[in-house]
Amino acid sequence: MKPTKPIKQEHIEDISDQLNKRSVSQSFEIEQLREADKQNEALISMNESLGVSNEQLKLAEINFKKSLKEISDYKYALDESSIIAITDQAGIIKQVNDNFCKISKYNEEELIGRDHRIISSGYHPKEFIRSLWITIANGKIWRGELKNRAKDGTYYWVDTTIVPFLNEAGKPYQYMAVRADVTRRKEAEQDVIKAYKEKEMVLNRISDAVVSVDNNWCYTFLNDAALATHPLGREQTLGKVIWEVHPEMKETVFWDKYHEAMSTGKVVEIEDHFAPMDIWFSVKVYPSSDGLTIFYRNVTESKKAEQQLSLLNTALEGRASELATSNHELERFAYVASHDLQEPLRMVSGFLQLLENKYNHQLDETAKKYINFAVEGAARMRILILDLLEFSRITTAKKDHTIINLDELVHKTLHILQTRLDESQASVTVANFPVVFGDESQLMQLFQNLISNALKYRRDLKPMIELGFAEKNDAWEFFVKDNGMGIDAINFDKIFDIFQRLHSQSEYPGTGIGLAICKKIVELHQGKIWVESSKEKGSTFYFTIPKFNNQY
Ligand code: ADP
Repeated sequence: MKPTKPIKQEHIEDISDQLNKRSVSQSFEIEQLREADKQNEALISMNESLGVSNEQLKLAEINFKKSLKEISDYKYALDESSIIAITDQAGIIKQVNDNFCKISKYNEEELIGRDHRIISSGYHPKEFIRSLWITIANGKIWRGELKNRAKDGTYYWVDTTIVPFLNEAGKPYQYMAVRADVTRRKEAEQDVIKAYKEKEMVLNRISDAVVSVDNNWCYTFLNDAALATHPLGREQTLGKVIWEVHPEMKETVFWDKYHEAMSTGKVVEIEDHFAPMDIWFSVKVYPSSDGLTIFYRNVTESKKAEQQLSLLNTALEGRASELATSNHELERFAYVASHDLQEPLRMVSGFLQLLENKYNHQLDETAKKYINFAVEGAARMRILILDLLEFSRITTAKKDHTIINLDELVHKTLHILQTRLDESQASVTVANFPVVFGDESQLMQLFQNLISNALKYRRDLKPMIELGFAEKNDAWEFFVKDNGMGIDAINFDKIFDIFQRLHSQSEYPGTGIGLAICKKIVELHQGKIWVESSKEKGSTFYFTIPKFNNQY
């Protein structure tokens, strides 16, 4: 409202003068005017003071609006950035923002009026939750991380600040919880903890002892196995300097090598006897920027076994070389004997022949029979000596082996035996043999001996001989199969020994050297020879020859 224009003092005096000039009856009116003037003055002063308050009011109004805007901005920022819920003092939800609904997957209607425990995950211990309530119920702010459960059963982590709103009496009448989603960080943290625990579990499970030391040589980790050599126990050892826990390690090879690993940053391996404990340790030291991780194990037992084995090996090597020498000497002896015996033998049979021819008329029938026995014996001895000579000659070393087309070799052998094959009307089937590495004449002799035996030890039916092979991982496995008389299982090994026969000379002529030669040839080719047979059904002789790409 516009104030009334004030009446000035000089006007009032002027009016008074004029009035004085008039009649006294008018003095009452003057008095009234004076009163009005006073009131006017009061009005003027009121008017002036009212004018000032108005401006202040306007200013206050502006400031108030500004504050209101600021508060609304803060609220907006808070709403946008945080998860907000307001509960009453009993924990009943009164208000939630959009972020709260989004993370909890409940809508506002489902939340308002419900107990805040609707989002409780049950993860935190009771003690923890109690301490939270005690804090806020005492009007203090609570801060911490909470795991909550959303409507769909998934969990989320929130970094939470709960602010109690206090009444005049200083008692909380409601709580405002401001949360920030820290699920990803928390999950990452838990992954790290899980990975660490798993690593610890694995390290504890392995039989090797594992310790870690930092760059100041202080223990940072010991697995269970390591505690066996740390009598102080884990808690007492962690944080201590390794050389203080194990002063006996100083100046040992372990000390040197650990320092080497620390200074060079290179992995170091040690296997040495640790005299103070009388233990052999096998140690691997892995340096990193954080220090060293040391894996070690007690290898005393295996070290002792190793030492014994090495002693045994040396003894065996000595024995093997002795055997090789005596073998060599035996072979030499067999050769010399068989070679040198031939001459006196020839002399014996020559003179017997002479005796028979020259004194024939003086000898009676018995004497002639005896001379005949002696001649036959000498002839047989000659054959034996020749066989022995042949046997002792088979010594070709591996270095003389060449690539052999076995297919060709087998057909050549069959060609040599052709007359005997025809005589016995034998049928022979031959597989397509592979190429092998070996001694040609020896392999030929091998096949020849086996095929000859198949013909010799036949039954009263046409011999059927099969030559075949099978490819194994590292070797070729050949076989010579017949339908002959077969062999008793008891003699399977015996027949490969020198001069061992299962038949008399009159039944089947022979010296019992054929299979011994076969065995020697196969063994010189690093193979094995054996027989499978059953009486009156036939025999199969098997032998292997290693594939040359593996053996040579
Ligand atoms: P030999 O034929 O001179 O007796 P071997 O060493 O070749 O000498 O044979 C040893 C023994 O093995 C033979 O006496 C014979 O009894 C038996 N034998 C060898 N091959 C066969 C075969 N294919 N079938 C049956 N018996 C066999």
